[in-house]
Amino acid sequence: MTETVLTDPFGRRIEYVRVSVTDRCDLRCFYCMPRGFRDFEEPEDWLSFTEIERVMAAFARLGTRRIRLTGGEPLVRRDLPVLARRLSALPGVDDISMSTNATRLARSADELFAAGVRRINVSLDSLKPEVFKEITGGKLEKVLDGLMAAKAAGFRPIKINMVVLGGINEDEVEDVVEFCLEHGFTLRFIETMPMGDTGRQATGHYVDLQQVKARLARRFELLPGMMPGGGPARYVQVAGSDLHIGFITPISQHFCATCNRVRLSVDGTIYTCLGNEHKLELRPRLRAGCSDTEIEDAIHEAIALKPERHEFKENPDKIVRFMSMTGG
Ligand code: SAM
Ligand code: SF4
Repeated sequence: MTETVLTDPFGRRIEYVRVSVTDRCDLRCFYCMPRGFRDFEEPEDWLSFTEIERVMAAFARLGTRRIRLTGGEPLVRRDLPVLARRLSALPGVDDISMSTNATRLARSADELFAAGVRRINVSLDSLKPEVFKEITGGKLEKVLDGLMAAKAAGFRPIKINMVVLGGINEDEVEDVVEFCLEHGFTLRFIETMPMGDTGRQATGHYVDLQQVKARLARRFELLPGMMPGGGPARYVQVAGSDLHIGFITPISQHFCATCNRVRLSVDGTIYTCLGNEHKLELRPRLRAGCSDTEIEDAIHEAIALKPERHEFKENPDKIVRFMSMTGG
């Protein structure tokens, strides 16, 4: 009989898969992707929608309830709502979400919502056009348009992800809190991670979020908070409001003990940890004509490889791939 709960060697239940639908992106956040980078996966190596659906159906039979579409920038992949609709229809899957930079969200928000995506996370590192450009190379205005379209389309919650960078946007944390209060968004601050050379280069701007929290507590009354499906973030709530603020602190306080996820990259590799190389390459098996049972066996094999924790702090040079390759 098929086991319907995936459990890794450390007793963690794996019920959440982040699916990277492309490693490409229309922005170049300096901590994520090198500026002139073009060494992307070739289209023939991308999993097709049918292959992604097949793999995710196998995960769903093994107990996966939650799928997040990510990348690279997921909206760069043509016809993404078609894939979202197919994944929403998988028996057992009850939560489809997406992480996006929102540059292309204004034109596809309604279609994605209709396809079953309900929750979105939007990266927004600055509210100042020139600082936004310095960090990402892109235009803030497009992101704000995308965000407002998402709000109008009915996505809830909308979570803003802000990587806090010393000397660049650290002075804006209070402004971003006010922005989220005004629009009813949830906010998460993120510490820079040493993913690839780009991530390591950003560690010069690393800010310990414990300090950011202490700073915010001087301006806002912060209550202990909870967020359903909160993942790795530790939340507080701003008193007298619905605003939840999460702190994603892979470096200052790692959260590996409660990790419930794996990642499927666009080339069909299952990565079992953001901060380790433990992986299983599924595409060769898919293209050699493996059966659905063999996909399930491969997933079990991958989960058995999941390491206990990342070593971003002790061993920051370890990860050569950068975030957009794995599916951040
Ligand atoms: N393009 C989408 C976006 O930006 O939201 C989805 C993919 S992106 C790789 C996912 C998240 O990873 C973003 O919130 C981004 O800020 C974060 N990220 C990328 N590189 C990082 C790094 N070196 N350290 C911390 N966070 C990083
Ligand atoms: Fe693109 Fe997201 Fe990476 Fe920025 S963080 S370069 S938007 S994939």
